[in-house]
Amino acid sequence: MRINVTRSSMPSYEEYCEEIKKLWDSHWLTNMGVEHKELQRELEEYLSCPHVVLYTNGHLALENIIAAMQFPEGGEVITTPFTFASTTHAIVRNGLVPVFCDVNTYDYTLDTDKIEELITEKTVAIVPVHVYGNLCDVEKIEQIAEANNLKVIYDAAHAFAVKYKGVSSACFGDASMFSFHATKVFNTIEGGAVCFRNDKIVEMMNDMKNFGIRGPESVVFVGGNAKMSEFQAAMGICNLRHLNEEIAKRKKVSERYRGHLDGAVGIKLCSPQKDVDSNYAYFPVVFDGFTATRNEVYSVLIENGIIARKYFYPITNDFECYRGYETAGAEKTPVAAYIADHVLTLPMYADLTLEDVDRICRIILSL
Ligand SMILES: *Cc1c(COP(=O)(O)O)cnc(C)c1O
Repeated sequence: MRINVTRSSMPSYEEYCEEIKKLWDSHWLTNMGVEHKELQRELEEYLSCPHVVLYTNGHLALENIIAAMQFPEGGEVITTPFTFASTTHAIVRNGLVPVFCDVNTYDYTLDTDKIEELITEKTVAIVPVHVYGNLCDVEKIEQIAEANNLKVIYDAAHAFAVKYKGVSSACFGDASMFSFHATKVFNTIEGGAVCFRNDKIVEMMNDMKNFGIRGPESVVFVGGNAKMSEFQAAMGICNLRHLNEEIAKRKKVSERYRGHLDGAVGIKLCSPQKDVDSNYAYFPVVFDGFTATRNEVYSVLIENGIIARKYFYPITNDFECYRGYETAGAEKTPVAAYIADHVLTLPMYADLTLEDVDRICRIILSL
């Protein structure tokens, strides 16, 4: 049987039907109805964050929170190229210039020793990414941002439910974006949110996702449309009920992989981070000095019906659409380029059986 790199979490059919029944009574399908309000409330509680603004997807949440900061056109944003297209695009689509900082060699988040040398008088913000759910060095980033008067907006798409010293990943920096896409640890089919503590930006974030409409006769802001529908919110409410259990299952899968692969010659795993409660979002493996290359492992797995993913490859500063940019070029971020060339994320989801993990590892280790 084919094993995909991920498999979306879903409640039972009956549980979802029960949740959406009320929508057939109300005929209220979107525009911040009861399901939207309920999910928002539950997430504020689950994430211990005073403000959660729901969006139809994570990308628009990120684009909008960057826009809400009202940076001057052409401002520079220090960010990582070792991420999904969304992060860099959100910066560029806001008229800002991405300045790519390399990542570190152990958890593939921003190398905080290399941030300060990239700061110029045009720098306005840092947009780090909690890659694979590995948290960035949030303390060091906060220090640098404070010393240089920069905003910090985390792309926390991979880091839902992760905690550092007991503090939720939603609470770092000026704001954090989560993605609730079908492939993420917690999903609302498509969906996302911006989380932050600053009371002053709540209204603006709400305006931005709903055309700037504040009342029936009052349009105060040139907003777009990025509202989460009632059906998305209902999926979120159901999935949230099972999330802790799902993360516990992911942990077992992760431990099983580690048991087989940790210490194997030419195979490098990310070590568990100190003081971090993980969500086990992905299982990245770096092949270097192994008996087969990353691409060979990838192909052999496919021959066996197992779909791993070259994630992230290529890195965003190597995208065709950024070729003309002065700041682009994978050679400027050699660690990120190296990881991108050697990494595979192996299948990882709550219902992946431990027998399947054994089989995947057996195939890899037999190469
Ligand atoms: C998934 C993802 C996004 C985008 O989220 P969508 O909900 O798919 O729009 C952004 N950044 C990273 C790192 C992601 O993995």
